[in-house]
Amino acid sequence: MPQNLLDFDLPGLTAWFGELGEKPFRARQVYRWIHQEGVSDFAQMTDIAKSLREKLQQQAVVQAPAIKFLHGSADGTRKWLFDVGVGNGIETVFIPEDDRGTLCVSSQVGCALECSFCSTGRQGFNRNLSVAEIVGQLWVAQHALKAEANRTTGETAERPVSNVVMMGMGEPLANFDNVVTALGIMLDDHAYGLSRRRVTVSTSGLVPAMDRLAERCPVALAVSLHAPNDALRDRLVPINRKYPLAELMAACRRYLVHAPRDFITFEYVLLAGVNDQPAHARALAELARDVPCKFNLIPFNPFPDAGYEKPGGEAMRVFREILQGAGYVVTTRRTRGDDIDAACGQLAGQVADRSGRVIKRLHREAA
Ligand code: SAH
Ligand code: SF4
Repeated sequence: MPQNLLDFDLPGLTAWFGELGEKPFRARQVYRWIHQEGVSDFAQMTDIAKSLREKLQQQAVVQAPAIKFLHGSADGTRKWLFDVGVGNGIETVFIPEDDRGTLCVSSQVGCALECSFCSTGRQGFNRNLSVAEIVGQLWVAQHALKAEANRTTGETAERPVSNVVMMGMGEPLANFDNVVTALGIMLDDHAYGLSRRRVTVSTSGLVPAMDRLAERCPVALAVSLHAPNDALRDRLVPINRKYPLAELMAACRRYLVHAPRDFITFEYVLLAGVNDQPAHARALAELARDVPCKFNLIPFNPFPDAGYEKPGGEAMRVFREILQGAGYVVTTRRTRGDDIDAACGQLAGQVADRSGRVIKRLHREAA
């Protein structure tokens, strides 16, 4: 099997080149060709000696997951569905805004954590994505968007993707090693050069892994709260039974010691009649008092047989105003790319369980 070079961060590639008898600066050159230029064909790496190019052709590939389809929306949103084998799909979404371009990246095929309002959670868990499959989503998007911009404007686009959020399918901290290696590649100046604050990991609250992330790679952290007390959170986010709110809040404070001047983004999916009442907002304001944070309110994004509904505009307004009145910065997630079903965090590809049986197929276009 040829070695997939998308699986390596720079230290890993350098070590592998060492085994081939090649110098570290050669690894750096190839790494830059791959990530900065988007080149997968070694023959095009013109400043690399022919003998090395031939060696690489025999022993290596640069292989991102295969694109099943790409959908564009009128507002500039793009969605890729990638084939990750045996009937499994993962999705990646690009959301352009005036001052940034955000890519929403998946970390696992399915998710084992079974949050009750999440279509990924309903589909069960199949497997972790490899480093190549995680970074490959950025590699494909960055270079496809660059080429697209070059075609339309005639100018060389710099970095269409300026921000990455690990909010696609899966729980990133449950695939810790691969996610941390992939994050390192995203931040590396020889690769994508994204700044630490422009890369966000979203977690449902795996406390020990939050501590490890703080030490290894303290990127921006988003924590999915969804409830202001343990009784309700136990139901909505079952991992809360293992790491209850008091422990989670303490972990958030510890995280910020490693990321000074940062804040935690608390995500809160509003479910009509379940967690969207004024009393919930007041309890939430109290819960988060000692954590530098802001809130991101997300209207529930419905899917078939979900058993939940999204709140009305009035409930959302009241909820937001209570938090704002308590002094918090609150954003409400805009729904973008609705026409291509691309709401981030609601990415439903199709997931087969370990035996290969397709558990559920929620994806409209894939059907
Ligand atoms: N597993 C991680 C990251 C992926 S989900 C996590 O849970 O944080 C990204 C965000 O989308 C999370 O806040 C998640 O709770 C939210 N989400 C999941 N299902 C949703 C739905 N049906 N509608 C709106 N947001 C949802
Ligand atoms: Fe997994 Fe996040 Fe969905 Fe929960 S909300 S099931 S942690 S992907």
